[in-house]
Amino acid sequence: MRSIRAIKVLDSIPVLLRTSLNAPVKDGKVTQAFRLKSALPTINYLRERHARVILISHVSGAGVETLRPMYEAMKVWIPDLQFCEVATGPQAREAVRALPPGGVLMLENLRRNPGEETNDPAFAKELASLGDVFVQDSFDVCHRTHASVVGVPAFLPSYAGFTLEREVTELHTAMKPKHPALAIIAGAKFSTKEPLLKILLKSYDHVAVGGALANDFIHVQGHATGASLVSKEGQESVRALLKNRRLIVPHDVVVAPPKSTRAAGRQTVVSDIGPHEAALDIGPDSVAKLCELIRKAKTVLWNGPLGLYEQGFTDATLALARAIAASKARSIVGGGDTIAAIESLELSEQFSFISTGGGAMLDYLADGSLPGLDALQVR
Ligand code: ADP
Ligand code: MG
Repeated sequence: MRSIRAIKVLDSIPVLLRTSLNAPVKDGKVTQAFRLKSALPTINYLRERHARVILISHVSGAGVETLRPMYEAMKVWIPDLQFCEVATGPQAREAVRALPPGGVLMLENLRRNPGEETNDPAFAKELASLGDVFVQDSFDVCHRTHASVVGVPAFLPSYAGFTLEREVTELHTAMKPKHPALAIIAGAKFSTKEPLLKILLKSYDHVAVGGALANDFIHVQGHATGASLVSKEGQESVRALLKNRRLIVPHDVVVAPPKSTRAAGRQTVVSDIGPHEAALDIGPDSVAKLCELIRKAKTVLWNGPLGLYEQGFTDATLALARAIAASKARSIVGGGDTIAAIESLELSEQFSFISTGGGAMLDYLADGSLPGLDALQVR
């Protein structure tokens, strides 16, 4: 991968910058600026060298189809930022032509064009025609074979932006952890986390499961899980993983009727989940045990909220975040919901590194590569 620093001439050059502006939006306003702030170092580097910066990104999520809220939010940092209502075609070409050296233009949501997700070569070529150079800085989409990820680099000299570089460096280090090393993998959906669990059990001293993911293990251990969220698939794999002595499964949980809030919670051991109760957080004894391991650890990798945080089951997540913040361990944290939980609890400053990637982080850690990174390799 070539670094953005290797681009020799930037003055007046139109640079197509695939960035990550997919921030959460509510009532037409960006609610969390983490991703937008992460995009700034690369944008500023290009501006300061008088490139003509063309920002391309997608936004997805219920009812959100436009990047306008991100444009409004970014103007705080880039007052002369411009916006174009389309990503390709005459209007986009004209907007690029009119862009002065050092100027920044944001094009509209790439996913409005079906060619983005299908990686239509005609769409990729048209996007690529807007710039002389391509910079990939959106690590979070690098696991997808979309036009702005794997299509465009086929047409332009391509480089890695600072966010992407840092992601790759940090996650690479996470795979060669300093010991003692602790991984905490929680959240939901066993199938998406299974490859990672397997890999981590090879290089980490302890791998703890939490959240709904832990329910799958509790279930296979033979305990009744009542109304808990449990995966239907993967029981054989769970059984195999349970044999590994590095794996830590919580021994107590907070249970409540599935739709209830924290106030209804009851702490108990995993063998005592009632038929109408769901395990919605891991329990304080299990948390204390993890905090003890965190205190001794040199590396802590964490993905996935430990409980149903949207309904207030945040005790374990908060306690762990605080323990990680207080420890000297190198801490690497990531995952879409994990970041959302950390941000809503105002803990983002507490970690050595927060990955902007959800699925991309999981895939990179499990496979050691991603389609979008392979596409940047010099051919
Ligand atoms: P990430 O996006 O950080 O990788 P996941 O998508 O794997 O995390 O999982 C996050 C989801 O898991 C959240 O919606 C969270 O509420 C849910 N969750 C965590 N623990 C539980 C639980 N015990 N029961 C039900 N849902 C849970
Ligand atoms: Mg998620």
